[in-house]
Amino acid sequence: MKYYSTRNENPSANDLKSSAEVIIEGMAPDGGLYIPESIPQIDSEFIEKLKSMSYPERAAEVLSLFLTDFTKAELINACNAAYSSEKFGSSPAPVVNAGDNGFLELWHGPTKAFKDMALQLMPRLLSLSLEKTGVKNDALILVATSGDTGKAALEGYSDVPRTSIAVFYPVDGVSEMQKLQMATQKGDNVYVCSIKGNFDDAQSGVKKIFADSAIISALSDKGLFLSSANSINWGRLAPQIVYYFSAYCDMLNSGDLKIGEQLDVTVPTGNFGNILAAYIAGRMGLPIGALVCATNKNKVLADYFTTGKYDRRREFFTTVSPSMDILISSNLERLLSMEYGAAFCSGNMKSLSENGFFENDIKENSNIFKNFVGISCTEDQTKATIANYFEKHGYLIDPHTAVAAFCADEYKKSGSKNKMLIVSTASPYKFPRAVADSLGIERTSDDFGCLEKIYEKTLVKIPEAISGLKAENIRFRDVVPPEKMADKVLSFADER
Ligand SMILES: *Cc1c(COP(=O)(O)O)cnc(C)c1O
Repeated sequence: MKYYSTRNENPSANDLKSSAEVIIEGMAPDGGLYIPESIPQIDSEFIEKLKSMSYPERAAEVLSLFLTDFTKAELINACNAAYSSEKFGSSPAPVVNAGDNGFLELWHGPTKAFKDMALQLMPRLLSLSLEKTGVKNDALILVATSGDTGKAALEGYSDVPRTSIAVFYPVDGVSEMQKLQMATQKGDNVYVCSIKGNFDDAQSGVKKIFADSAIISALSDKGLFLSSANSINWGRLAPQIVYYFSAYCDMLNSGDLKIGEQLDVTVPTGNFGNILAAYIAGRMGLPIGALVCATNKNKVLADYFTTGKYDRRREFFTTVSPSMDILISSNLERLLSMEYGAAFCSGNMKSLSENGFFENDIKENSNIFKNFVGISCTEDQTKATIANYFEKHGYLIDPHTAVAAFCADEYKKSGSKNKMLIVSTASPYKFPRAVADSLGIERTSDDFGCLEKIYEKTLVKIPEAISGLKAENIRFRDVVPPEKMADKVLSFADER
């Protein structure tokens, strides 16, 4: 399997890359993202085979279809190590029923958000890729984060040989817990910095550094090359395809689904990586019905899927679901290119960067619009949904998952008969203030007080990875304007 850029209309043999190469490079040189040249197809036998497997085995099976330059042994070893019970407990991605929905809980990893599902594996894939390609320089991972990616990437790359990692986050755009998780990160190869701006400023800043040949050559002189851990990297996206297969198998095993039966999926969406993975699983042949793209008040994607117009020229809101506070969803580019080719994709991306919007015809470009449904959820609806699910079903969800649960229940009013799988992306204790507010718990002076109060009310166990933060030392306090990001990267590279 080879990969090429979403913006390359006519890839030559040289433009086709192996998965090891694209995992190392992150983004394509033309500014596009790598996509597989074809989508591997599976049948019901493949699903039958996965049914009796453990999560790491399922992961190795699905990934082997995409990462064809890795051996089965390499993949199974990497997946066993990444998804060990030490890191994820007994079950990395369980499906839990609440009401008549299934919730796919993806937050049992070390940082308590779904980013661990990819970021525990990706550093191992990168190490293997460096070996395979014989690249001599070491990787400097640059990350822009709206909160959860940063911590998950830090945790994944901390003290991994031949790598170092610098993370930038918007100073007022992440929760107190997320900030603490990052600022206390251990490891000799890590750097964390907040920027005066929002997530899009952080992401643009990182993209600029990637495109700056002077910085790239300065780093190269220091024996470093830049790579990304954001979902623009295929090594992030591929592991996310796995859990849709795993959920389907678990629902077959529990009798909630029959083989071949369609499953609707609702994904709380920000950068469009997670839902794109569901879409790819569907294109491979997993029976996925509707893909409900659930957005918060920053509903640029929900608007796109309802009107065909993607318009970032709008007010940016800071919400209780900060990991979805995004106006430029990078991975949408992959969908555009996979459905209508590189010329269509490039044209839209050019218009987005020059004019701040692009517009597609819902009828003419129906492939995009027939599978995806865009629905948005306000702040009040998010909080009401947390309260409702706890009161009615005794099930506690975080604000991101609540956005999805609200949108899923809205979608079901249209009369779909399929079973609904809602992707649950974070532990409720990662966002204790919003959860406490929703449950009518009085405000406490800090987030740690909130944790206790939520526990007293719900008796849902507090993850040690979160309650333990209180005792950790703060290591990183830098706050800089976006134009200083490059300087910080260079000085971090020097200190290494
Ligand atoms: C990153 C994140 C999302 C959004 O996922 P995308 O792949 O960026 O669309 C949703 N919820 C949580 C908790 C996240 O950390």
